[in-house]
Amino acid sequence: MYCSKCGKEGGPGPMCQNCGAPLAAAQSGYPNVQTKKPGGTASMVLGIVSLATCWFPLAAIIAGIVGLVLGIVGKTKGAGGKAIAGIVMSACAIPLAIIMAAIGLTV
Ligand SMILES: [Zn+2]
Repeated sequence: MYCSKCGKEGGPGPMCQNCGAPLAAAQSGYPNVQTKKPGGTASMVLGIVSLATCWFPLAAIIAGIVGLVLGIVGKTKGAGGKAIAGIVMSACAIPLAIIMAAIGLTV
């Protein structure tokens, strides 16, 4: 929670720990904990896409790698279940696509 008066991290309370000013952000319900976590949803979508396109190994591997990277980035930024779902699905889709290509089950 940032203080609008001194510009420093004001702490978790309703008052700034540095200057004692009321933290306006706290009153306006500034999304501190529930900030949008980028990467999670995109990673999950790409994971689904890469699984769905495992018949097209090139597309699946590209989507899988991007999904995996976005998932890991999202995870490090605090994205939860969606990022993990994206990582898991992407991590499954990449070898699946390679197997599909290897056994010739592709278009
Ligand atoms: Zn302050």
